[in-house]
Amino acid sequence: MPHRDDTAEILRTALFAARAHADQRRKGARGEPYVNHLLEVAALVAAHGGPPEAVLAALLHDAVEDAGVRVETLRAEFGAEVAAIVAEVTDDKSLPKGTRKELQVQHAAAKSAAAKRVKLADKTSNLRALAESPPADWDDARRLDYVLWAKRVAEGLRGASPGLEAAFDAAAAEALASLRVEALASLRVDPTP
Ligand code: ZN
Repeated sequence: MPHRDDTAEILRTALFAARAHADQRRKGARGEPYVNHLLEVAALVAAHGGPPEAVLAALLHDAVEDAGVRVETLRAEFGAEVAAIVAEVTDDKSLPKGTRKELQVQHAAAKSAAAKRVKLADKTSNLRALAESPPADWDDARRLDYVLWAKRVAEGLRGASPGLEAAFDAAAAEALASLRVEALASLRVDPTP
């Protein structure tokens, strides 16, 4: 296993993740390549002092859940520590979506510090995307539901990284502000007689 803080190791992981998600796009109207999200989450974790294994896990955080990569494969490629963090942030897809979302709220506080960092960065990236390029088929109610749910999950993730918490809080405020602006715009009465 190479040193995890090697530039080469980070890029090897980013390439693995980019290939695993090569056929996926983000839900936003812009349809950004999925790897943009993975790089943003990893950049957030790294910028706020995340340990190297958390940065690698951030690049891989959706590989099991959304790209069908096996945890055993991650263990063989990136080591037990990275694979364990990814497993911690992976939902059980055999459960209905509503149950999975509720379990994220309930389980957040019991996660390891590294998993909390990855999850906070993930939610931050998702809220930024919601403010900047929301899914075209999400109405305001669905967007508001998402922001309020993300805030509930984030409450359980506090304590691992004040910097990531601040980034999350800013992204949540921005997402709410974008909803408010649009709600006001839709209420605006045409002033012409
Ligand atoms: Zn994600």
